[in-house]
Amino acid sequence: MSQIKDAGVPLQFAGVRHRYGDSVAVADVDLLVEPGELVALLGPSGCGKTTLLRIVAGLLRQSAGRILIGGRQVDGLPTAQRGVGIVFQNYALFPHMNVRANVGYGLRARGVAAAQERDTVDRMLELVQMTALAHRMPRELSGGQQQRVALARTLAVAPRVLLLDEPFAALDKNLRLDMQMEIRRIQRELGITTLLVTHDQEEAMSMADRIAVMNAGRVEQFDRPETIYDWPASRFVAGFIGTANVLQGRLQRLGSGYALQCDAGGELALDDAAPCSRDGAALLSVRPEHFAFAAQGTGGPHGTVSMVVPLGPQLVYELMLDGGTSVKVTVPRHGEDARVQPGERVALRLRDGAPAAVFVPEAA
Ligand code: ATP
Repeated sequence: MSQIKDAGVPLQFAGVRHRYGDSVAVADVDLLVEPGELVALLGPSGCGKTTLLRIVAGLLRQSAGRILIGGRQVDGLPTAQRGVGIVFQNYALFPHMNVRANVGYGLRARGVAAAQERDTVDRMLELVQMTALAHRMPRELSGGQQQRVALARTLAVAPRVLLLDEPFAALDKNLRLDMQMEIRRIQRELGITTLLVTHDQEEAMSMADRIAVMNAGRVEQFDRPETIYDWPASRFVAGFIGTANVLQGRLQRLGSGYALQCDAGGELALDDAAPCSRDGAALLSVRPEHFAFAAQGTGGPHGTVSMVVPLGPQLVYELMLDGGTSVKVTVPRHGEDARVQPGERVALRLRDGAPAAVFVPEAA
């Protein structure tokens, strides 16, 4: 792999904006993807992810801001000179060429000598584990196999940055998981800086070193998957990734920490809390597995269990809090909390050391 082993270069977005006519598709995006890092652009349909990817590729010229690859501004360069390789969801293989010819296409177009083309194609086929099917035509391959060939063809020309545009969207769920792991392995092996566009939060969580969560053209949070899960920066992020219970209340100091006085009644003690609005109004986001049941009469919010659903090793409880908010609590199926039955009244507490993110309602 020596040809592309050291391909890791930084990819930087500096104040990138884009408008289509009057509508703003991307607004003031600043991101630095480190050499060899895999960053996912994650967000709902229309949030601007594809627009950003097209801007990096040189398929679209941004309205403002700069793109730097390896520290060099590339905005004036055509796609072919940027050193980017793109894999699209529809593979776009040449139907009349076999696997080997598809993988070698970019090398031949660049005038690479036949012996070198053969060596590189061999290495790429091995990398994506397609050596045995090198003489098949695209129509004789499964979706996952076609995707491997598309990846090999893109990597054969040694791009400095790999762009993946919803590359697994056309694959069924099991195959998608296999391909996600496979591409992650190859990406790590090559150390190639990679940008993955996806609307699938599980895909972003399982593949990315860091995730940029986008909403309406802006990056709302850029951090490691576990940090985004535990400490979402806004209500949008909390709701888009995983399941979040959002409780409204007022934040007060309590000893060395804080407590949220819930509008639904009761209070929850927090070790730490981000600054909140001047009058203390705050929203608290708690993941279902970070709640636990407490005895009635303790200080937490109270409610009644409306439903319990077994989910593998866990039970998922749905509770209606006294103030009318519905929350979900997951507990280990064989733990103490699993004895609670539908119709029972319970109080809630945060598990010891559980993360609970606070945001001001305006930022929600
Ligand atoms: P999806 O997951 O649906 O592809 P996305 O997050 O990739 O969505 P973009 O395709 O980047 O979103 O689109 C961002 C915004 O720009 C959307 O509001 C979209 O309607 C708009 N848009 C995209 N392409 C064009 C275009 N060629 N002309 C006008 N508006 C466009």
